[in-house]
Amino acid sequence: MNQMHKWTATPDEIIEGKTTDVYFLRTVQCLEDDGLDKIKVWAEVTTGGIPRNGKKLVFLGLQDVLNLFIEAKLPVNIYAIKEGTVLPNKDYNGVKIPFLIVEGVYRDFAIYETPMLGFMCFQSGVGTSALRLRIAAKDKTLLSFGNRRMPPAIAPTIDRACYVAGFDGISCVLSAEKLNMSATGTIPHSLIMIEGGIKAAVISFDRNIDPSVTRIALADTFNDERVEVLDALEAIGEKLSGVRLDTPGSRKGNMREIIQEIKWELKLREREDIKIFLSGGLTESSILEFRDIVDGFGIGTYVANSPTIDFAFDIVNIEGKAIAKRGKFAGRKQVGYCESCDIYLCAQFEEEKILCPSCKFEMTKMLEKFIENGELITILPTEKEIQQHIQNQRNNEEEMQ
Ligand SMILES: [Zn+2]
Repeated sequence: MNQMHKWTATPDEIIEGKTTDVYFLRTVQCLEDDGLDKIKVWAEVTTGGIPRNGKKLVFLGLQDVLNLFIEAKLPVNIYAIKEGTVLPNKDYNGVKIPFLIVEGVYRDFAIYETPMLGFMCFQSGVGTSALRLRIAAKDKTLLSFGNRRMPPAIAPTIDRACYVAGFDGISCVLSAEKLNMSATGTIPHSLIMIEGGIKAAVISFDRNIDPSVTRIALADTFNDERVEVLDALEAIGEKLSGVRLDTPGSRKGNMREIIQEIKWELKLREREDIKIFLSGGLTESSILEFRDIVDGFGIGTYVANSPTIDFAFDIVNIEGKAIAKRGKFAGRKQVGYCESCDIYLCAQFEEEKILCPSCKFEMTKMLEKFIENGELITILPTEKEIQQHIQNQRNNEEEMQ
């Protein structure tokens, strides 16, 4: 085994069930000994709340869950809400909405509770923050810069969530390759330091880097931001298309005034076209604070280290009989949605029609069958299509938080 995998699980180890919690292995042992290893259940994924006082979440991670079950070749049925759906965690009556259902012999899939929840909790968490940031930034550019805050093995996972939520760019080369787009970035402080200053660094960047790459100077390494912006402008003139301010906390002062001064100086030089980007410890509230005076934001920790959605996986039916542990709602459920009233309603799965409690029209059934007897029975959406699906639901933006 490659030593780089010493502390990360390989896909094979995940499929073999080695990332499960040990109590599932013991459960399987007991069920087998008691002759209960053929018992069929219906188990659902729900969550009791949404972090950061959110009202809606972005459901992500479904593709990885489906691929896990397909690779494991288990004869189960899986129903789920479409990946990228933006919805509350509870329905009109306060019933927890099932996001995903696994139907089959419990003994077969018990060990996958841990990895499947991991895929959904993490990705839905990042996607939910990313969409909130997208909404906060309005039409300003949003770049995902947070991979350095998480293990490199999951860099594409983080960037996928940011991309589908509507981020404009990502800096990680591998993520960009997988998403079939160009990676976006500026200049690191190290280049400026080794080249001996902002002027030498931007001149070198301009000489060496493909002309199709926009020239965005990092203007805060040794001197005042205004001085370094003007130095960069002097160095490469009309080729300079933007500046990034990554001012450290100890020097931040009044960031708004610093930006206003820079804009004034650029205006004096008839270069109001030069874009201003901010990065460094930004949050949703910093976006709200600066979105009127800058052109874009590089977001790192706040999105990569998003709070996870605490999804749980519970049996709600055993051999056709509704059952639930305390705090859960028993029985097989379908989720109805009325787009005109923006209402979700959990109903008996078998009900032919679900009617909207407000307008009385028939609701759309949200849980679709993706896997039948272990086989994928539909074509999974591309990331571009998931992005479009999220975009199409942004008519009720104020309801995310
Ligand atoms: Zn309705």
